[in-house]
Amino acid sequence: MPIAELKTKLKELAHLASTAAVLEWDNEVNVPPLGRDARAEMVAYIAGLRHEKFTAPEFETILLEAESVKKLTSEEQCIVREARRDFDKAKKLPSNFIRELAQVCANSTDAWRQAKQLGNFKIFQPHLEKIVDLKIKEAEYLGYQESPYDALLDNFEPGMTAREVERILGELREFLPGFIQQIKKSHSKIPAMKAKALAEKQIEFGREVVAQLGYDFDAGAFHISEHPFCTSFHPYDVRLTARHKPNDPVMVLYDLIHEAGHGMYGQGLLAEHYGTPLSEPVSFAIDESQSRFWENMIGRSRAFWQYWYPKFQKTFPEPFAKISLNDFYRSLNKVKPGLIRIDADEVTYNLHIMIRFEIEKMLIERQITVAEAPKIWNQKTEQYLGITVPDDGKGILQDIHWADGLFGYFPTYAIGNIYAAQLWAAMRRDIKSLDQKIAKGQFAAIREWLREKIHIHGRMYAPVELIRRATGEVPTSKYLIEYLIDRYRL
Ligand code: ZN
Repeated sequence: MPIAELKTKLKELAHLASTAAVLEWDNEVNVPPLGRDARAEMVAYIAGLRHEKFTAPEFETILLEAESVKKLTSEEQCIVREARRDFDKAKKLPSNFIRELAQVCANSTDAWRQAKQLGNFKIFQPHLEKIVDLKIKEAEYLGYQESPYDALLDNFEPGMTAREVERILGELREFLPGFIQQIKKSHSKIPAMKAKALAEKQIEFGREVVAQLGYDFDAGAFHISEHPFCTSFHPYDVRLTARHKPNDPVMVLYDLIHEAGHGMYGQGLLAEHYGTPLSEPVSFAIDESQSRFWENMIGRSRAFWQYWYPKFQKTFPEPFAKISLNDFYRSLNKVKPGLIRIDADEVTYNLHIMIRFEIEKMLIERQITVAEAPKIWNQKTEQYLGITVPDDGKGILQDIHWADGLFGYFPTYAIGNIYAAQLWAAMRRDIKSLDQKIAKGQFAAIREWLREKIHIHGRMYAPVELIRRATGEVPTSKYLIEYLIDRYRL
């Protein structure tokens, strides 16, 4: 049976991918500093082995045989179609090109670190020039219809184009700067939250919260790491990590809720399909919509804190016993434009993404040179966020993505927010008295709705189609705008 054979092959490849993921997870959580280089070599070896097996003539023969089968179920069609998509992508890039890109990026991240620290773009500029050239070359290898940027975007958000991103983000860009001006005055009066809290207590509290939201600790685990992330080896083994800072009492909690959002998606993929595209997340933005949904729509809502705040006050009596729910809620949702994307609140965050999307698109379309990019960055920051960039370290050099060769990745963050708000609006139509349920600590219906509408489908539908089926509409920023108005007119 050609389909059974294809599935067996795909499962072997999935085992290799999961093995590399375990090694990488271990690297972030356990490996001592001197062991890092050796570990990177191991991961590269396993990844190379997988690539070799995947692109070998033997795999193509099996794929062609599966494609020639006349009557396929819709699930089998998905497996064959997505395997072909991945295979073509892997085959289109010559291995010497992949090696060159990896080498250039490795050198570039060192230069980026130094440049960022010194706030000097010139150190990074020649590296970024090489990377942009290579990414344009990559787009040529992969092929595209309209813009070379589309080919790169497709690596993260299958089927999405720059034009479509423009359409979805455009309305939001029109709305946000004016809205921020409107709420600026009332938000400037909200005190920022600062309090010391013991790591152990924060971890204990965070674990209790995400377990109640529906993340399954029997199929997962949690550790502290430098950067928060979620990684999956199998739907029954999905790991989370979070950061900890002693003077931020909710950092572990929000890292955990965010990563548990990814984690519940990973756990919601069907184990019976493990190894095939039916048990894989469909795109970066859909994955991010799950984490943002739990973190923001649920985790920053008043109803959520109506339920959790008494417990939170008991766990951290100093200073929260004396702070009212209302004051706590307001400080949690304080909006303040800032320079740094990863510290940004939910409202201004999307503008940080626009700046990056617009610049990287111009770079890939050769509308601007790399040398011009910092100036444009600073202009856009002034225009969108109303703040002046003091140096490149706090401006264009703040993110590692471009140094890592990641172009087309940034928009998935903002699109994830847009999907999340659209899912939230649809869910509120489907589930009666949702706020009351949340205020009582009842989250099961929420997770089940997401599971049914998003998780169990794996890569069966393209992201835009998945959203349309779940919400009745193609992606639109209308619901994010409505949600932001509702939440942030404090
Ligand atoms: Zn995320």
